[in-house]
Formats: sequence, C-alpha cells, structure tokens
Amino acid sequence: MCNFFDIHTHFPTGNAGVTELENLRFGQVASGQTKFCSVGLHPWYLKADGFDAEKQWLDQQSVLPGVCAIGEAGLDKVCDTPWSLQEAAFRYCIDVSETVQKPLVIHCVRAYNEVIQIKKHRKPKQSWIFHGFNKHPDTAQMLLKEGCFLSFGAALLKPGNHSAEALIQTPVDRFFLETDDDPDVEIAAIYEQAALLRGISLEQLKRLMAENVRKCFGV
Ligand SMILES: [Zn+2]
Repeated sequence: MCNFFDIHTHFPTGNAGVTELENLRFGQVASGQTKFCSVGLHPWYLKADGFDAEKQWLDQQSVLPGVCAIGEAGLDKVCDTPWSLQEAAFRYCIDVSETVQKPLVIHCVRAYNEVIQIKKHRKPKQSWIFHGFNKHPDTAQMLLKEGCFLSFGAALLKPGNHSAEALIQTPVDRFFLETDDDPDVEIAAIYEQAALLRGISLEQLKRLMAENVRKCFGV
C-alpha cells in the first residue's frame, strides 16, 4: 500500500503511512517529525536588514540531503513587504533552486502574471509548484500551459470552491496534495475528496501521487 504524501505542511504529524515535507523558513527549526523538508524565503517575513543572513541560511540549508525543495518563495500583493524586496528574494530562491537542482514551491497571491513573466525570462529547468492553489480553472490552465504544477489543499473541502473544478481539469501528472498551515485538516481527508472529484479510487490516487512525488522531489 502506498503512503499518503503531504508535499507542503507547517505542522507535520509524524503519522505512520504519511510522508511529509515540512516547510521551514529562516529562524525555524525542524520539528523532528519528518526527515523531509523544503526551505525558502517567504515573502511575508522578509526584512531588508536581515536579507543577507536569510540568503546565507538558505545557501547552507538548500544543499542538505533531507531538503527536497526550495520554498515557499514567491510574490504576494496583499502583504506589506516592499515589492522590490519580495522580487529580490524570489529571484534568489529561483537561483538556488536551479543551482542545487531542487524544485521550487511557490507562494503566490494576486501575482500570477508577474511570476509567469519571471519564469518566461528565467527559463528555469526545475519544476515550479504553485502550492495552496485555490483559484479559478482559467488561472490553473494558464499556469499548466506554462509547464507549472499545482498543489491543492484544504480549499477542496470547502463547498463551491473554484479549486475543485481546477483539480478535475488538471492532468494527473501535474498535481500534488497538501495540508499547508491547517493543523486540523488531515491529508487523508484531502486525498479522499480529490479521489471523489476525479472519480478514481483512493488507492489509484495514492499511486499517482507517489509517482508524481518521486519524479519531482525524488522522495
Ligand atoms: Zn505554507
């Protein structure tokens, strides 16, 4: 039987049967519940006077064997961090992702066009995964067309959320599932909902996700 894979969580459970990628940012210490993590410069927490230390931290962490991805990193139009600092940090994370050859987990709020413009210029070789995707299927299609991956989470459980339709339209080899920052949501519940939406069995979905995670994160 395949494990569940939670590719982006801030609260790893350590539960048997679940493989978790714990997300860590500067200043955070791994919980010890899982050996896999992603490390990144999150736009919410950037400080101009701490940027050098953050970059140094990322350089050191990014090469460690348990680090499977860089992120979350990205652009957020709703947070207070100056745009220039957000962009500098995002570009730095992209460079690190390309250098260490690990995929990039993206936090994006109302900045899809800006992220895609950067992607078109930078032409990264690593996979880009938009985590916590909860937008309209049109946005999903735009990102998929650019070769990106989508990771769906608790929004799938909310009645009427756009992301259910987006999930249905996403090719099987282009999506992941996650719990993100909600400690009350179990990855198994997200899998069950996703399997229902896609009209496949839970076991089929587990096999598909295991294959996607292996290919993208090497886990
Ligand atoms: Zn997160």
